[in-house]
Amino acid sequence: MDFADLSPTYARGYQPGWPVEAEVKRARDALARADPLVPASGIRRLQARLAEPGFLLHAGDCAETFRDNTRTSVAKRVSLLHAMSDAIEAKSGRPVVMVGRIAGQYAKPRSAPTEHRTGITLPSYFGDAVNDTDFSAAGRTPDPWNLVRAHEHSKKTLSHLEGSGVFASHEALLLDYEQPQTRRSADEGRVYDHSAHLLWIGERTRSLTGDHVDFAAGIANPIAVKIGPGATPAALMGLHAVLNPENLPGRLAFIFRMGRHRAYDLAYAMLSRIMAEGWTDRVICDPMHGNTVVSPAGLKTRVVAAIEAETREFFSACNDTGVTPGGIHLEVSGDDVSECVPARVDDTYLAINYRSACDPRLNPEQASYLAQLVGELLVS
Ligand code: PEP
Ligand code: MN
Repeated sequence: MDFADLSPTYARGYQPGWPVEAEVKRARDALARADPLVPASGIRRLQARLAEPGFLLHAGDCAETFRDNTRTSVAKRVSLLHAMSDAIEAKSGRPVVMVGRIAGQYAKPRSAPTEHRTGITLPSYFGDAVNDTDFSAAGRTPDPWNLVRAHEHSKKTLSHLEGSGVFASHEALLLDYEQPQTRRSADEGRVYDHSAHLLWIGERTRSLTGDHVDFAAGIANPIAVKIGPGATPAALMGLHAVLNPENLPGRLAFIFRMGRHRAYDLAYAMLSRIMAEGWTDRVICDPMHGNTVVSPAGLKTRVVAAIEAETREFFSACNDTGVTPGGIHLEVSGDDVSECVPARVDDTYLAINYRSACDPRLNPEQASYLAQLVGELLVS
C-alpha cells in the first residue's frame, strides 16, 4: 500500500486503512464468535453506580500495549487507582467509582495519518489494536488480526482485575472492534457492547452525524464524550438529545478538555446550559489533553502546574454554576515515568524514563498529588 498518503481512508472517521479487506471480515467474524469480555450485569452495575452521586475517577494509560500487559503491570495500575480513590474519599467523604482506561485501551486517533523520520514516511502508530510502535514498514502496516489480539489481551487484563472493584473502559474508536462485540441481551432485550463497561467517544469523532455517535446511541452502556474548546453549548445539546434522550442518570458523561487558559469560560458556558436544561449528565474534568506541548527535543509532554491550573478552573466553574463536579479523567502510569514535567519543559527530566506509546502520563507521585488536590477541591 502507498504509505505516503493514507489521508483518504484515514479521514473516514479515523478508521485505519486495512491492507486486505477480506482479512478484516475474518477478524470481525472471530470477534463476533468470541466470548463477551464483560457481562451485561457488570455494565448495568456500573450504570447504577454512575446514577448515584459518587465521584468518578477515570484514569489509566493513554495507550495500553500488549507488551506491558503483565500481571505485575496491571497490579501496579490497579493499586495506583485504589490509592488515588482512597485519597479523594478521605479528603472529600464522597464515594469514588473507579473506571480504568484499561483492558482494551488499544486504539488511538492520530492528528496525522503518517509519520516522517529521516526521509521515510510510514503510517502513524494507531494503537496495538491496529499496528506496532516500531517504526518499520512491517511494524506500522495495519493488521486486522491485531483486533483479535486486543480482545485476547483485554481478556487477560480483566482476569487480573477480577475482584479489584475497577471497571474497564476505552475509547470506542475502531468500529471493526466494537460492532462485532455488540449483542442484544436475551433477558431484557437491550443492546450492549461487551468490550468494556464504559465506552467513550473522542474529541475527533464526536460529530453528531458521524458513525461513532450513531454507534454509541445504539448501545446501553454508560457513554462518555470528550468535549474540547471547539465545542459549543449547542453541540452539547445535540449530543444530549442523541445519546441521552430520556435524561437517564448514569447514562452520559461529558469530559471537558479545554486547555488551561480557556477552561473556566468554556466550562462556565456549558455548565450553565446543563444546569438550565436540568440534564442528569455527569461532567468530568480532563485537565491533560488540552495542555499537551512538544519539548525542544520533540517529545510530547504536559506541565503538572498547567494540569493543576485547569483542574482548579473546572472546579471553580462548577462552584459558580452550581453543577456538581462529576469526576476527573487522567492519564497515569503505575511506573515511575518522567513524561509530565513538574513546572517547566525540561528535556533532561524527560530523558530519565519516558516510556509512553502515545501521550505523556502522570507518574504515581504526580497522580497522587492530583488526587489530593481533587479531594480538597471537592470540599472547598
Ligand atoms: C485520549 O483520551 O487519549 C485522547 C485522544 O483524547 P481526546 O479525544 O480528548 O483528544
Ligand atoms: Mn491521550
